[in-house]
Amino acid sequence: MTTTQRVHWDLVYDVHLGATWGRFMAGLTEQKILANRCPDCSRVFVPPQAYCEACFVRTDEWLELPSEGVVEAFTVAWQGFRGGPTPPYAIAGIRLTGASTLLMHYVRGLDLSDPAGVREQLPTGTRVRAVWSEERTGQILDIAHFERA
Ligand SMILES: [Zn+2]
Repeated sequence: MTTTQRVHWDLVYDVHLGATWGRFMAGLTEQKILANRCPDCSRVFVPPQAYCEACFVRTDEWLELPSEGVVEAFTVAWQGFRGGPTPPYAIAGIRLTGASTLLMHYVRGLDLSDPAGVREQLPTGTRVRAVWSEERTGQILDIAHFERA
């Protein structure tokens, strides 16, 4: 008896960003990384959040963060997937200066030819800075990637 059926989806669709993410993406077109702050606990969110999940209040105070921060965690993708970047590539959780949350993004400029040597190249606390795309269209890859500062 057959219990599986192969299905192929190839979808192109529009995602409604909403006011909070829309403002964040608009800032990226101007090379600005916009964050917002909780009025109760003062945590700073980037990417921004419409509300603080700890305090249950709206987070409508906006601020611009510097495009530099530190790596708190990272991984290297050794296998690719359709539509994704060509492996290997590194993705890091980056705490921008002044942020309470981590921004996930690519880190380039590492030698990924030797898996055993990757860890020493990007230890926790490594300072990184954003490299902006030449053409910015209001999406997360307006920051092309981060590199060691
Ligand atoms: Zn809060």
